[in-house]
Formats: sequence, structure tokens, C-alpha cells
Amino acid sequence: MNIASWLHSTARAKPDTPAIFLGTRPIATYGEFLRRVRARAAGMSLSHGLQPGDRVAVFLKNIPEYLELFYAVWWAGAIIVPVNHKLHPREVAWIVENAGARLLFSEDGATGSETPLPEGCREIAVGSPEWTALEEQGDGTEAPAEVTGEDTAWLFYSSGTTGRPKGVMLTHDNLRTASLAYALDVDQIAGDQATIYAAPISHGAGIYNFVFVRAGGGHVFPVSRGFNPEEIADLSRHFGQTVMFAAPTMVKRLVEWSKTSGYRGDGIRTIVYGGGPMYAADIEEALQLFGPRFVQIYGQAESPMTITSLRREIIADRTHPDHSERRASVGQAMASIEMRIAGDGGPPREGEPGEILVRGPTVMKGYWNNPEASARTLANGWLHTGDVGRIDGDGFLTLTDRSKDVIISGGTNIYPREVEEVLARHPAVLEVSVVGAPSSEWGEDVVAFVVSRPGATCAPVELETWCRREIASFKKPKRYVFCDELPKNSYGKVLKTELRARLAKTDEAS
Ligand code: AMP
Repeated sequence: MNIASWLHSTARAKPDTPAIFLGTRPIATYGEFLRRVRARAAGMSLSHGLQPGDRVAVFLKNIPEYLELFYAVWWAGAIIVPVNHKLHPREVAWIVENAGARLLFSEDGATGSETPLPEGCREIAVGSPEWTALEEQGDGTEAPAEVTGEDTAWLFYSSGTTGRPKGVMLTHDNLRTASLAYALDVDQIAGDQATIYAAPISHGAGIYNFVFVRAGGGHVFPVSRGFNPEEIADLSRHFGQTVMFAAPTMVKRLVEWSKTSGYRGDGIRTIVYGGGPMYAADIEEALQLFGPRFVQIYGQAESPMTITSLRREIIADRTHPDHSERRASVGQAMASIEMRIAGDGGPPREGEPGEILVRGPTVMKGYWNNPEASARTLANGWLHTGDVGRIDGDGFLTLTDRSKDVIISGGTNIYPREVEEVLARHPAVLEVSVVGAPSSEWGEDVVAFVVSRPGATCAPVELETWCRREIASFKKPKRYVFCDELPKNSYGKVLKTELRARLAKTDEAS
């Protein structure tokens, strides 16, 4: 089934319902949305020879045309390749080449001016005469192109905290099942809700468009094209029942801003957070200010937005004896998947940490043109996530780290996340990240990079005392490095590889 058929059915049932908004301004009803999608699909096929299975790359910020392009590409039976808009044109050219994209849609049409795009790829600027001409090739086909559920719909180039990104092949069925899992395990959906694309639509926020298309809800594109707490508050007050996906850093920014502005989440129905660690201290503060509006998900491009969910009622329930452990977890396996922890040969014991393995219909088909990496990652029919965690007796998964980030000191595994949780609770600490530094004595030493809150200072000795109260001595950082900010990739994930490289450099110099 073509995932675009969801737009088809909603547009026929509710043609006059407003679908897409720029800020508070409605710019397309569902009928209009479908009309543009069909016409542009026809334009891409007739003017550019687009065939089913061809790739179309999109290098845009969050703008309404992005959503329309998703569906136009699927209508034509082709594959969308959303490219993170913060990438350098050289990185974009690499992805376009790797994907073998026939078309690239960009803002200024000049991505290829620095590093020429591969031959056979045509770049089109949104809004240019060539773009407008796409709509002038007739109405297009009545129904979306016939595809099977196993055909690739979305080539998802992972954010890559190391090395070159790989193209994750997500099929029409992967996307459909991920959306069904949302309705079962994340939030109830209804046509009066509006999703705000506050996070990049090339990533998780885009994966969430389907449920709102299916329900006939609103798709709201902030005028700022990014994440601005005040704008989110204004839009939420205007629409009511807003839903958004937000990285933990965005939730933190919203919370910090609310402390001074007095905003308490008016109009926000749900903030789904995930994509990186949310520290217990931060979600506690968010709950105190905003109430039970939060749901957490854990997923990765290879099983998008769908490994576990930590439901609203569990996050908000303070009465359960395990509430603090549960709140620090990422929740339970979603309905669409099976999850287990890899043992060292034998079956893992309950509560023992190990690599998280996942199986089910949301798991990718494989990596684009990379059979070796696909075979490695999907060995024995299980997705090897590269994340380390432990599952408690009630099925709650607590993530400790990426497997490569685990610190081994004196032969013992130390999970940085555990140390970070403790330090993040210190009132003078704004952000923290813990990595291992090579040590001739211990193999690795624990080092904490700390960003202090504005105006606050914290001496290492104070942090040392703080840690001593809560964690075993061997886990305490041996060193603290204070910095103005932590290096992050364009989706806000802390680049531990860069922190380790910094340490290596300073150690070399000393
Ligand atoms: P990506 O493929 O870019 O979506 O990145 C996925 C990775 O982000 C996962 O493998 C995890 O390491 C991390 N991640 C995703 N969700 C969470 C979460 N809720 N808490 C902590 N880390 C997360």
C-alpha cells in the first residue's frame, strides 16, 4: 500500500478542512493539498522523467512545500530523501550522489554551485519558475502509484555522530506501522489536533506527519522555520490541542523560557520527546511547570520513532513506588516490536545491561547500497541498535549509553549516563556529558564536561562531594572540564567523539 493513500482518503472525506498553516495562516485545505500533490507528481514525471523507485532529495528548512513534496514524491511511486537542512552543501552533494537522486529541491537552487551535483541530478529551487511549472502539467493521476508495502518510501540518512551517514531504507509498510504504533502507544489522535513542526521534518517530526494526515488534523509550520519557545506558546494558544516532537534540548529551552515568561503550557496537548537523553531532573522540572503533557519515545532511524514509549500517565504518576526509576527509563516496548537485550553468549539476566536488539515490522529493510552494513546490523533477524540498556522486571528499558560510549575503567563498565544523571541534578550544572579518556593506569578515566548555569559557579571539589553522595567512588569523574557549550550535531545530539578528541589533543599538548 502506498502511504500517500492516507492523504487521498482524508482529502476526499474532508476536502474543505484546513490542512496546512504557515504560522496561524491557513494556506491549504486537504482538497488543495491533494490537488497540488497530484499536479506536482505529474510535473516531476512529465518534465523530469521521474519513475517509480527514483530518488528525490529535499534540502529545505521546515516549510509547507516540504510536506507537499513528501506526498508528491510518493504519489509518483518514488522515494523521498530528506536531507538535514543544516548540512554543508558538500555533505548534501555526497548524499545526493550516494542516493543517486534524480532531483534535488532546495531553497536557493545553489547547493550544487560549490560542489557540483552528480550528473543526472537536477536541482530546483522552491518558488522558481521551474518549480511553478511543475504544477502546470495537468491534474495528474486520480490515485497514487501502485507500490507494494515492501517498496522503499523514505531514504533516511542517519544523523551520523561518527563517519559517513548511511541511507536507511524505510518502506511504506514501515511508515504505516510506525504510525499505527503511535496511535496505540504514544497518543490518541483526533482531527482537532494540530502538529507543530518545531523540530526538523527531515527527521522524527516528519515521521509524525502521517497520523495527522490520517486524522485530518492541522500541520503547522512556524514562521521562524525553527524552534522558538515564544512562537510555540503563541501557536499553541491559537490552535489549542497542539502536538509536537521535541528533542530534550528543546524541552529544556521551553522550560527555561517559561520560568521567566510565566507560560505554563496553555494550548499544548502533547510534547513527545526523544532522540537523546532526557535527564530525570529536567523532566521533573518540565512536569512541575507544564503538568502531564509529556510522552517519551525511544527509536532510531533504523526503527523510526518506534522502539519504546514512556506513556504520559506513567511519567506523571508520582504514587508508584518505582516512579523515579520509571521516569528515568524510556518506557516499554511498543506494540509493533519485540525487544531484548543481547547476552554474552547466554541469555541475559533481568536488569543486566547489554546491547538492545529489536525485531518487527517497523525495522528498516536495510541500508541503501550497503549489504555488508545491513547484514551486520540486521544479523540473525534482529536490529542491533548499538544502544546499551537494561530491562527491569516490568519491561521498562533504561538506556545507559551507545555501546561505543561505555567507559571501561579498571576492567569495570561505567555507564556515562548514570554519572550524567547525578551531575545534571546539581543546581549549578546546566549541561553535562561524560566520556572516557585513555589512562595508562586504569585503561580509561571518567571525565565530565560541564556547562555551568549562567551566573553560577561550581568548583570540581563541590561536584566531587556531590557525586560521592550518590554513586560508587570508581564512577566519579577523575577530571572536570568546564566549557561554554557542548559540541552537538545538527539534531542536537552531543558529539562524544569530539569531546574525546578534545581530550586527546590536550593530553598530547601536556
Ligand atoms: P537517530 O537515528 O538519528 O534518530 O538517532 C537514534 C539514537 O538516538 C538512538 O540509537 C539512541 O542512541 C538515541 N536516542 C533516541 N531516543 C532516545 C531517548 N529517548 N533517550 C536517549 N537516547 C535516545
